[in-house]
Amino acid sequence: MCAPLDPLDFKVRSWVADSGWPITLDELLPYYCEAQELLELGEYNYSLDYWQKKCSGFTPFPLDKDVIWSKMWQFSPPTRFGKKYKETIVNSPNIFLYTYSNLTKIIASEHVNHIRELQVKNLEGKTHRVRAKKFVLACGAIQNARMLLASRGQAKNGIGNDKDNVGRYFMEHLEIKSAELWLKKSFSTELYTFDYGTRNPRAELALTEAFQENNSVLNGTASLTPLEIAKKQTPLIDVWSNEDPRQSFDNLVANIRVSREKSYAKNNMNGEMAFELFTRMEQAPNRNSRIILSDEKDALGVPKPQLHWQLTELDKYSIRKMYHILGEQMGKASLGRIKLEEFLWDENDHSMPDHLGGGWHHMGTTRMSADRNKGVVDANCKVHGISNLFIAGSGCFSTAGSANPTLTLVALSLRLSDYLKTS
Ligand SMILES: Cc1cc2nc3c(=O)[nH]c(=O)nc-3n(C[C@H](O)[C@H](O)[C@H](O)COP(=O)(O)OP(=O)(O)OC[C@H]3O[C@@H](n4cnc5c(N)ncnc54)[C@H](O)[C@@H]3O)c2cc1C
Repeated sequence: MCAPLDPLDFKVRSWVADSGWPITLDELLPYYCEAQELLELGEYNYSLDYWQKKCSGFTPFPLDKDVIWSKMWQFSPPTRFGKKYKETIVNSPNIFLYTYSNLTKIIASEHVNHIRELQVKNLEGKTHRVRAKKFVLACGAIQNARMLLASRGQAKNGIGNDKDNVGRYFMEHLEIKSAELWLKKSFSTELYTFDYGTRNPRAELALTEAFQENNSVLNGTASLTPLEIAKKQTPLIDVWSNEDPRQSFDNLVANIRVSREKSYAKNNMNGEMAFELFTRMEQAPNRNSRIILSDEKDALGVPKPQLHWQLTELDKYSIRKMYHILGEQMGKASLGRIKLEEFLWDENDHSMPDHLGGGWHHMGTTRMSADRNKGVVDANCKVHGISNLFIAGSGCFSTAGSANPTLTLVALSLRLSDYLKTS
């Protein structure tokens, strides 16, 4: 499920500490278009107008456009990169692919301004060294931070960590069932339907940029699922707790299919009067939300990572505000009413319930900033202070936005590869 970040996501927002990317959406645009193809999505167009012309049944709720908009999403098959691009990589004359080779250490020069080599091990006990002019870490946001922190041979706090930013600012999308929408009269909700078994795009409800700014809230969306179906779904935490994340995805899809089959609502949301509203909200950047190293080591002798996921008052406030406004707008338009989940009732309660989830969207641990005091990588994804070490992935995100991360992280990686070719 993919969408690009919104223009506001890249800007400094006075109400969000440490917000602002050193690049703009426009700079990323050509790479978004390329990423769109790699992820086997449709045309790079996320405007509601465009999709309304293509799908005649797409009608947004008639809400105040200055306050609420319908954010479009597209669905990939999904693309399994290993399967889809294996042959291209194997047949490429300038790529050497080594599998079962686990990075265990990054070795820097004496002054820690240059990477000399990587240490790579396998479970058979073999150790290899990898030398190159330039290195790109692309092990995922948690593992990238872990490898930098664990490489302490030349720098006691780890590589790229002289300003103590590596592993900090860990962000997830806050995913949680938050409210119910009860319509007064039937409304065609095809635009908002997750059309199981097809790759049709769909929309989620979101607060406009102007509203976010005027009310000092974070970016987030609310998706609709007919209540009848939602009630029959297994909680996400049980569906997604799987050693192999690909299995988790298959379980997720099966969960939706089975709950639809059990429900009279089936595939068609038209005629439904009650919906579950599910949040996907960005998490505000927070230095105390972080990956550190555990005392425990893995089979190859590398300290395991430990996650300290910490949220702020702004995170909870933003979720509550989004549903207050959505309720107000639904009422004003005489469309229906919103019933908040209990965890949102008390305005003075800033805690989150235990069933709060994330989307497996790990971000921010090697955040991008033009200022080396505030980030790990610069605008080109190069580690500050190290001439030949680069990072790919959503660890580089300065803020999370409300969109799922993969389209943006692939776009950033394409931009990085252009930079490496020309620099
Ligand atoms: C169930 C599920 C559903 C998701 N749904 C969506 C979605 O709908 N939309 C979306 O945008 N995103 C989604 N995501 C998130 C998406 O999968 C990630 O954003 C994306 O895979 C991150 O890409 P990456 O290449 O940075 O990291 P990864 O895909 O994690 O790749 C990192 C690779 O590095 C390897 N590695 C790690 N450590 C080492 C080491 N020490 N040495 C050598 N190799 C190493 C790993 O084995 C892995 O192959 C989902 C994730 C899950 C789990």
